[in-house]
Amino acid sequence: MRGKKIRLSKSSIGQEEKEAVLKVLDKEFLGMGEEVMHFEEEIKAYLETDFDVVCVNTGTSALHLALEALDIKAGDEVLVPSLTYIASFQAISACGATPVAVEINPDTLFIDMEDAKNRLTKNTKAIMPVHYASSAKGMDEVYAFAKEHKLRVIEDAAQAFGSKRDGKKVGTDGDILCFSFDGIKNITSGEGGAIVSNDKEVIQRSQDGRLLGVEKDTQKRYAGQRSWDFDVKYQGFRYHMSNIMAAIGREQLKKIDSIERKRQSIVKYYVEALKDIEEIQILDFEYENIISHIFVIKAKDRDALREHLINDNIECGVHYKPNHLLSKYRTDYALEVTERIYEEILTLPCQYDLDKEDQNRVIQSIKDFYSV
Ligand SMILES: *Cc1c(COP(=O)(O)O)cnc(C)c1O
Repeated sequence: MRGKKIRLSKSSIGQEEKEAVLKVLDKEFLGMGEEVMHFEEEIKAYLETDFDVVCVNTGTSALHLALEALDIKAGDEVLVPSLTYIASFQAISACGATPVAVEINPDTLFIDMEDAKNRLTKNTKAIMPVHYASSAKGMDEVYAFAKEHKLRVIEDAAQAFGSKRDGKKVGTDGDILCFSFDGIKNITSGEGGAIVSNDKEVIQRSQDGRLLGVEKDTQKRYAGQRSWDFDVKYQGFRYHMSNIMAAIGREQLKKIDSIERKRQSIVKYYVEALKDIEEIQILDFEYENIISHIFVIKAKDRDALREHLINDNIECGVHYKPNHLLSKYRTDYALEVTERIYEEILTLPCQYDLDKEDQNRVIQSIKDFYSV
């Protein structure tokens, strides 16, 4: 049943994004300026949030800058689920701090707060829960735990842009949230990311930090000026977003309602088709409230199923190799649930341009494999 290759994920770019980029090129102001300012305002309006928005060049930089803004440094520890993209871990170690790998709940794949308790030390400064596959079921417990132990919370919401939690958009509530707009995330600005927070100091430090620590450079640039005389108090980075990126992001943001409908309908179709297959387990998510960046199932004989799908020219993935199994982050303790789940998870194609016909091919290939 080999048809054309079905891609796991991809960018979806229209004429609008292309024209928006051309306009920026024509203006010959490519760096950080007006477009970025507007993108930040439009994100804020879309999220209907009082929180401020700081756009940067990647989701990883957003996480790193947020941690820097909290003065997290060598000797500090940050609790983070092992089952996440390597970016979460690298952002923490980039500050000199230690990412402390924590277990997940086997049904929601969200950080397990019972295990987090075991990993708490006097050096723990923050916790980084991950919106795994856009879901953050269990986040209330993270905030209760953080309050009790006086920890800051940096939500890795890289996959969750546009999703809701407790009826409100992610980014209207909480401590610090980081989004990603990389090429295949819910919306893209080519590469890109954002820090969202209600903490004015974190916002100011992030704004300065993305521009080499130059104080109030953001305000200057948005007023069409440059900083000639300034002070720098903290380590900074070249993490700002460019006008070219923001121009793409602004067009993508205009399409988010349609992106939401499409991704939700893809997921709903998968869930309906697969939920009665005994060998497959659907994750315990509130799918109607999230925009799924990836669609993950737990599958019996995962490796063989994966091979079968690849033979049918269907790309699939494993999100993720647990970080505590990597040389740099290897732990001297086992994470049994994470290690077991790692053998079961499989990510099926889920992208804006996936049509019904392709999706039926994916579903049929799975049914063929299990002979159901
Ligand atoms: C994509 C992603 C990031 C990093 O975002 P980039 O924009 O790719 O740097 C971080 N964490 C998670 C969970 C992600 O999926």
